Amino acid sequence: MKALIKDGAEVRLREVDPPALSRPDQVRIRVAAAGLCRTDLYVAEGLLPSSSRLVLGHEFAGTVTEVGPEVVGVGMHQRVAVFPWMGCGECRWCEGGHQTACPQRRMLGVHQDGAFAEEIVVPGRLVYPLPDSTSFRAAAYAEPVAASLAILRAGLNPHSRGLVYGRNRIAELTYRLMRLHGFSRVELLKEQKEECSFDYVVETVTHPEDVARMLRLLRPGGTLVVKSRHPRPLQLDLQQLVPKEIRLAAVNYGDFQQSLDLLRNPQFHYEDLLGVGHPLEDWRLLFEEARRDESTKSFFRLSDVWDR
Ligand SMILES: [Zn+2]
Ligand SMILES: [Zn+2]
Repeated sequence: MKALIKDGAEVRLREVDPPALSRPDQVRIRVAAAGLCRTDLYVAEGLLPSSSRLVLGHEFAGTVTEVGPEVVGVGMHQRVAVFPWMGCGECRWCEGGHQTACPQRRMLGVHQDGAFAEEIVVPGRLVYPLPDSTSFRAAAYAEPVAASLAILRAGLNPHSRGLVYGRNRIAELTYRLMRLHGFSRVELLKEQKEECSFDYVVETVTHPEDVARMLRLLRPGGTLVVKSRHPRPLQLDLQQLVPKEIRLAAVNYGDFQQSLDLLRNPQFHYEDLLGVGHPLEDWRLLFEEARRDESTKSFFRLSDVWDR
């Protein structure tokens, strides 16, 4: 099969053997659509520590082609999406349903083979069946939606005044999800704002100048919500942070099933945030496009029915 592989410092499209089930709790999936994310670019560029050789990609949907004997709730030929994070399954965070906080967490496309390939093998417990009305393309968008839904876990008062900071699809998505969930006084950064005017600011970019501006925009006692996973440390000006007694709230993911449900909600508009699909062969073009312009999500299409 074809797979986009990071091998040391190089990324290449290769012809490799399709993956085989190595455990009875695994599922094999033929990938139909896969989204390209900042995380994939960081891994490709070596900015995030990853396995030395692996298939990139973690946002995807496809069709089940093989089911291990110990898998429950997943059937052959089922259309599915996959949550890309795995925990150890035994620690208190995993048992509490927070495998993304597990000290031994692993991510598809970062720590083990991901989805920029014709087929992938994943643990059955990560697999979520799709309703017929959700296209593979939309389902491949469930992971970024789940990441933005983390905002609901930041302990914010929906009636307070807030700002989503950034001019990119992630800021736009977060803003729309907040409006949909009753945050009536949230704004999207469009023009110059007055200092000390927001109860909370949601970060989607981490450039030091932007972070300094976010701190100025927050009122004393306000909350800075941190949610991007940029590989470089965040620079915080303590001369702003401490006198203003700003609280930090770091949030990672919301519920994956909830995000799949949202993709079918007619009140949630997201089509304009999704870009067109390219074949794996065009990966250089797609990577360049994603680096240059963050307004829409870029996709690989691996099947003729990728947007159905
Ligand atoms: Zn992602
Ligand atoms: Zn664990």
